[in-house]
Amino acid sequence: MKYDNVQPEDLNWRCERCDCDLVVGPVAATYMNNRFSTDLPYCPTCKTVLIVERVAMGKMAEVEQILEDK
Ligand SMILES: [Zn+2]
Repeated sequence: MKYDNVQPEDLNWRCERCDCDLVVGPVAATYMNNRFSTDLPYCPTCKTVLIVERVAMGKMAEVEQILEDK
C-alpha cells in the first residue's frame, strides 16, 4: 500500500472529534479555483481531512506545476 502524499506516520493520527482511526482515500480539494482530488488521510465518520503541512506544501507545488503546464 503506497500513496504519494501519505506517509506511514500520518496514519498514527486519530480524529479528535470522533476518536476513530483515519483512512486514506481520494479527497476533493480546491486550490486557486482549481478542483483536484488527491489521496489524503481523512476521518470516515465526519469527513475531516488531515492535511499536514508537508502534504499541503508538496501538493500545492504539484498543482502549480500542473497549472503551468497548461
Ligand atoms: Zn471524525
